[in-house]
Amino acid sequence: FHVPNAVNEPVKSYAPNSPERAAVLAAYSEMWNSKIDVPLYIGNEEVRTGNTKTISAPHDHLHIVGTYHLAEKSHIENAITTALTARTNWAKMAWEQRAAIFLKAAELIAGPYRARINAATMVGQSKTVYQAEIDASCELIDFLRFNVQYMTQIYNEQPKSNSDMWNRVEYRPLEGFVYAITPFNFTAIAGNLPTSAALMGNVVVWKPAATQVYSANLLMQIFKEAGLPNGVINMVMGDSAMVTETLLNSRDFAGVHFTGSTGVFNDIWAKIGTNISKYKTYPRIVGETGGKDFIIAHPSANAKQVTTGIARGAFEYQGQKCSAASRVYIPQSLWPAVKEQLEADLKSMKMGSPEDMRNFITAVISEGSFDKLAGFIDQAKKDTDAEVIMGGNYDKSKGYFIEPTVILTTNPRYTTMETELFGPVVTIYVYEDAKWSETLELVDTTSEYALTGAVFSQDRYATEEATIALQNAAGNFYINDKPTGAVVGMQPFGGARGSGTNDKAGSMQNLLRWTSARTIKETF
Ligand code: GLU
Repeated sequence: FHVPNAVNEPVKSYAPNSPERAAVLAAYSEMWNSKIDVPLYIGNEEVRTGNTKTISAPHDHLHIVGTYHLAEKSHIENAITTALTARTNWAKMAWEQRAAIFLKAAELIAGPYRARINAATMVGQSKTVYQAEIDASCELIDFLRFNVQYMTQIYNEQPKSNSDMWNRVEYRPLEGFVYAITPFNFTAIAGNLPTSAALMGNVVVWKPAATQVYSANLLMQIFKEAGLPNGVINMVMGDSAMVTETLLNSRDFAGVHFTGSTGVFNDIWAKIGTNISKYKTYPRIVGETGGKDFIIAHPSANAKQVTTGIARGAFEYQGQKCSAASRVYIPQSLWPAVKEQLEADLKSMKMGSPEDMRNFITAVISEGSFDKLAGFIDQAKKDTDAEVIMGGNYDKSKGYFIEPTVILTTNPRYTTMETELFGPVVTIYVYEDAKWSETLELVDTTSEYALTGAVFSQDRYATEEATIALQNAAGNFYINDKPTGAVVGMQPFGGARGSGTNDKAGSMQNLLRWTSARTIKETF
């Protein structure tokens, strides 16, 4: 089986006067000045139920950019039937045909849709253009290209045969439909979760986050233009509990591909357990959930490198990445230099709307998120074992803006060292240089999560010690780099413990979960 060798999509610069900057600003302004009406996509139908909600931009929440329609239970049941009908042809379609559709989708995003998918991510999810580019364009393109390559590697993996028998493995799609549930924070994840299952021959009912519907709508249009047959991926919005309940109650539910919070994933897992005897087949449960990602610096670390790791790891996209650095351990000897540099870095971080490309920080996703973060900041201002040493201001009058905030704590188990905040707030604990090994132990045991983490050290023995001590503390472990920004094809992404099933996004391992192998032995 041969497919084009997957290559990573180069990241465009969006420098002043570049054509890509002009194109994305034009797309942004067109979107800003019009309104979209997002239907449910069920088979060949765009279903407008009339029960709608508005879509507004987080950085200007009174500005309405569209509406989306909410499903009733009957629409979800219809989506299941439609998906299962589409399955008949899709599951037996030759793999090259499926591959071609997703490769074409990648090229549509790389070319004609690039400005619009980035602009949609800026409008609806308040990403800066740079954050939109590495997500909605590059990462999604990479997922589509690399998954096609991984798929063929899987199909090529065949058992031994000999002169009197031929053994083969057929990588069948799952018998039923896959439920994809995607988060607001990455358009790439929204694109990857339904398409990776579909690529392997599955049909999908996809529920995007309510706060990502704006770009999700464009993804559906891109998939259709790429030639995805009707009914293979159906997009539904609606009351989450109702949608999930209805889909998980179906005898044909065959798997869930999830990214979101640990609590929601646990509920889904429990419901699947309760329903288990209803199903035709044991469902695949694949989920990436929360994180409480760490940075630990050794006394030998380069202070400038550590600070850049904190500034970018904690504050890019307002810290709303599962991988964002949110608890930091700095040795006393390094702290003055790190503090000084971090203050300078934060001063240079401008905050505002994404269409002003000088801004590094824009708004957080919703009022709920804003209020929660403001609550933690206020609490830290009061608590005796914590202090807000940088930032700490917030304002939701126009958009949900929270300054990049640094909390310093004397208590390594302070609330914000343990709780996932999902926003531009990082907590730092300064440890005594001599307590390096004890601090590693602390890093390992403080959080229930284990998604990403970083060690900064110029001492190879210390690096090794950290690598061993933190073996289970992160599924993505970075040495002298920030814990965010995994690149498809280079750093397969995912974590264990409370952070998920660790079926690395963008990997053969992940695609294998969407197949159920049949072994065929034929004797001659
Ligand atoms: N893959 C992203 C990264 O490495 C994080 C994905 C997420 O937030 O779920 O930064």
